[in-house]
Amino acid sequence: MERKSKVLVVGAGIGGLTSAARLAQSPHLEVEVTERLSFAGGRFTQHDHDGYAVPTGAVHMIPHGRKGPMAKLLFGKRSNGGLDLRRHGFDFLPTTRFAGWMKDGKLRSSNSSIGVMRWFRMRDTLNLPRLLGARAKQPWQDEEIDGDAWLRQRYSDDLVDFLDAFSNFAISLRFNQMPASTVVRLLQNAFWLDRPSVPKGGCKGAIVALRKELRQLGVRVRLSHEVTEIIPGHSDESTKNHRFAVGLRRRGRPAATWEGYDAIVWNGGHPNLLSALSDDFEVDEAVLKQVKRTTAVGGIGFVFALDDDIPQRHSGVTMLTETERVGGYVLPTFSEPELAPEGKHMMVTHQYVPSSDIQSEINKGRDDLFEAIPWLSDHGEELCVHAYHRNWPCNRSPQGAELPADIGVDGVRLVGDGVKAHGWMMIEGIAANIPAVVNDINSMTRSAK
Ligand SMILES: Cc1cc2nc3c(=O)[nH]c(=O)nc-3n(C[C@H](O)[C@H](O)[C@H](O)COP(=O)(O)OP(=O)(O)OC[C@H]3O[C@@H](n4cnc5c(N)ncnc54)[C@H](O)[C@@H]3O)c2cc1C
Repeated sequence: MERKSKVLVVGAGIGGLTSAARLAQSPHLEVEVTERLSFAGGRFTQHDHDGYAVPTGAVHMIPHGRKGPMAKLLFGKRSNGGLDLRRHGFDFLPTTRFAGWMKDGKLRSSNSSIGVMRWFRMRDTLNLPRLLGARAKQPWQDEEIDGDAWLRQRYSDDLVDFLDAFSNFAISLRFNQMPASTVVRLLQNAFWLDRPSVPKGGCKGAIVALRKELRQLGVRVRLSHEVTEIIPGHSDESTKNHRFAVGLRRRGRPAATWEGYDAIVWNGGHPNLLSALSDDFEVDEAVLKQVKRTTAVGGIGFVFALDDDIPQRHSGVTMLTETERVGGYVLPTFSEPELAPEGKHMMVTHQYVPSSDIQSEINKGRDDLFEAIPWLSDHGEELCVHAYHRNWPCNRSPQGAELPADIGVDGVRLVGDGVKAHGWMMIEGIAANIPAVVNDINSMTRSAK
């Protein structure tokens, strides 16, 4: 009998686990996942903190809810490239309002994107077709204008400030830090698709369902095992029948052991992959240059425990436009009460980080929150604040960087937030990139036989 091709997925983040589950649907592949940490989920899971589901990264939001690429991937039928995870009791729970805006201490909220437009000038609504109709499915050629300049030429400052606060909250970047075509496409997707959702059981709900699926598909997930190096398979006797020899080091052990694989899906970002790949592999020069000039994006998030007397009673993302740093906050417990102890709520905030002085950035964020949210000091207790940077950033590459999944090495592809598809934010960007990677790995492993 012909042996199956062995695929190693490096990293058990949401990008790695979803790719592994999709790849394992192919009968000619034997798929394994390896993760350097002692838990799966990466920046898309949570740790329990006295009954509060404190995120390792993601603020428990699925940007485009039940209509986005992640919903298609997780809930779509297997015959359609999906994982059909509702079989495991997992689902997305829509936010109870589309969005909110806290300004001058007053809270507005709306149930639709059109409802949000009513907060701004009539001219903004009349001009909306110029945004929604702009061709932005691909990055614009020789793009010189940034997203902020593009929008301010067409819309009121109030509207642009509101949308920019959303960008700060969701992407950790301001519009002036992204190309215009990226911003236009992001906004088009946000306008046309569903309102955000909260994963049932929080981010970890998705990880638990994926792990059940992987178990059913016979995929082994090895935790506490780091990939240290990738060399050609023929370099070692034990791996000579495979394209790659991969050095795997178990946590606490000094040395790695070699294992053979025919394809590698890398979930840990371009710089880490490039340092693991030996010089025997020739990486595309243009990609090397692109990776060199790309820096990961940091951010800061606070988590507050709230009592049940808070006047705000919805889980829509609430934007803050008068703050120095914080873009917004969300109370996911109004969609998924399981994320806090009974009778309590949880608030998660997010802010971009324009300087390297993390302590001063945290102080600015805290000041912002107590100034902008009138009920916070009476009803909230700070549980923790997390700074996301270095190897645990908000985004391994900034939105709009357009780093490729293919670095020019046969048998290797990247998934995850280093390779987000154009104009898709957060984990929607990860999901939008996965079908092409799965197709590539399938055809590369078939043609290598
Ligand atoms: C504060 C914050 C808030 C966010 N909020 C949201 C949100 O609400 N909604 C949303 O959609 N997105 C959100 N995001 C973005 C989202 O969390 C990330 O894009 C997503 O979790 C990244 O998933 P990933 O699989 O690409 O990477 P990761 O989660 O980082 O997974 C990669 C895994 O690879 C492992 N790894 C790396 N190198 C190796 C190696 N050599 N060997 C073995 N394992 C290795 C790492 O340990 C890690 O576990 C947020 C991010 C942050 C930081």
